[in-house]
This record gives sequence, structure tokens and C-alpha cells, in this order.
Amino acid sequence: MFTKILDGKKISNEIKVAIKKKVHKRLTLGKRPPGLAVILIGNNPASEIYIKKKQISCNMVGFVSKCWRFSKNVQENKIINLINILNNNPTIDGILVQLPIPKHINTNNIFKSITPNKDVDGFHPYNIGCLCQKTPRLRPCTPWGIITMLQYYNINIRGLHAVIIGASNIVGRPMNLELLLSGCTTTVIHRFTKNIPYFVKQADLIVIAIGHKNFLKGEWIKPGAIVIDVGINRLKNGEIVGDVEFKSVISHVSYITPVPGGVGPMTVAVLLQNTLKACIEYN
Ligand code: NAD
Repeated sequence: MFTKILDGKKISNEIKVAIKKKVHKRLTLGKRPPGLAVILIGNNPASEIYIKKKQISCNMVGFVSKCWRFSKNVQENKIINLINILNNNPTIDGILVQLPIPKHINTNNIFKSITPNKDVDGFHPYNIGCLCQKTPRLRPCTPWGIITMLQYYNINIRGLHAVIIGASNIVGRPMNLELLLSGCTTTVIHRFTKNIPYFVKQADLIVIAIGHKNFLKGEWIKPGAIVIDVGINRLKNGEIVGDVEFKSVISHVSYITPVPGGVGPMTVAVLLQNTLKACIEYN
């Protein structure tokens, strides 16, 4: 079967070039550059890599980005105090707290403390509620990055049966809302779902985000389905792989995202888009 690899890196670069032009135009008009504040708690090596990638991307497009680092034992109120200061800082348009957050801190309290107008991750209950009511504002980066990628390739998903594997607040649930908004019929699968292959076999479009390497098998897939692999799994040798058993899946699909180079770069591109949007429309 003809298979197309969806190139997130290429689209992400095009998005960044477009953002850079808009920032340049702002500067020539005497306006300030968009500002992104990043908060990092603890010393998770993967988080360090993600933060670095985000900062490099910010520099590339001409944003000002600043990072605040805390030890893994920091108290929740210290983080919320900083967020309150950043909420009132007129040079900051976006506030991002890198996940995962240590367990003693309540992630939802952190999300709620970021003003919705600077919530460039799109996780605040207000922004999620707007997406739920079909009036999106700042949208969660990974799900919107996936929709942007499908739009870029002119893949019409209206009317498709989309099966989302994983139901987290940051990927699976908002992905379900985005796919509904795009006219899909959706099924959400999670750790308590029985007979997962039965549901997957009915899917025209599969989005998987669970964090288990090689989980999705070729034999489960309807011929011609589209497969989007969100998973990021680091092997002992340092290699990064997704949640899809790529070798067995590739011959069954019409389109598939690679890992790395698929959804990951789209997530970063949307973060930049959200920061620019927040700067222009909300701050
Ligand atoms: P999470 O741990 O918060 O949620 C995982 C979800 O998968 C849960 O809903 C759980 O019920 C479900 N799940 C777990 N095991 C399952 C199983 N055996 N069968 C069915 N469902 C199962 O994870 P998350 O934060 O959503 O991240 C998921 C993966 O996506 C991770 O590998 C993460 O690194 C990756 N991720 C990638 C990007 C990106 O930009 N590419 C962004 C966010 C997350």
C-alpha cells in the first residue's frame, strides 16, 4: 500500500519561518517581541532536553524566553507566587510549566494559577472549556499540532471514525475534543478498556499517546488507516521510539507519523503560535 510519512519537522520549520516574519514586522513597527516564561522543577533529563528545544525555537523566531529553575522539593506556593508575578508582567505573553511536575505539587492547581490569557499550553480549565464548547482560544499544543499537520497535507478527516488511545489531560482528552470539532466520530481508549484491538480495527484514524513502545500492532489496523504516534519512549541505547510497532504497522496505513520528527516538532511549533497569538490578541 502507498504510504505517506507525515513530516512534522518540515511543517514545524515552515511555521517557525512564518512566525519569525510576523515578529520581525512587529519589531519594525516599534512593538516589543513576544515573551515566553518557562518554569522547570527538578532535574528530569528529558525535561531539560524539551526546554532546550523550546528555547532554541524561541530564539530562532525572535521571542524573548526566560527560564526559572527550582529544585524538585520546592513548595507549591513558591511556584504559584512566581506564576502570579508573571501573570502581571507585561513583557510576558506565555507561561509554561514543564511537565512532569513532582508528585507533591498539584498539577491542576498550577494550571489554574496561570491566567487563561497566558496559558500557552492550553491546559487551563477555561481554555479547555472553550474548546469543549466549540469556541477554542489557546489550544493544547500536541492535539492542535496534529490537526495542523493533517490540514497541511489536505487530509480530510470529517466523518472518519477516530480512535484515540490514551486519555490524559494533556493529549488524549483534548485530542478527542479537537477531533470532534473536526467532524470525526470518536472513541477514547484507556488503561481500563477491554479488548483494545476490537476498537482499533474499526478506526479510520488512530492517535496513540500512552508511553508504551511497540504497543500498536499492524494486525490490529484496518487497511488504509491513518496512524498518529504521539508516544516518546527512550530506549537504553538513547534511541527515541514511539508507541507504534512501526515495522508491522507501516504496510497497513495510508499515512503515518515518524518518531522522532512527527508530532514532537508540531507541539513546539504550536507553542510558538500560541505565544504569538497570546501576545497579539490577549496581552
Ligand atoms: P499519561 O501517562 O498522562 O497518560 C497515558 C494514558 O494512556 C492514560 O490515559 C492511560 O489510561 C493510558 N494507558 C496507559 N497504558 C495503557 C494501556 N496499556 N492500554 C490503553 N491505555 C493505556 O501520558 P501522556 O502525558 O498523555 O503521554 C503519553 C505519551 O505521549 C508519552 O510517551 C509522552 O512522552 C508522549 N507525549 C508526546 C508529546 C509530543 O509532543 N510528541 C507530547 C505529550 C506527550
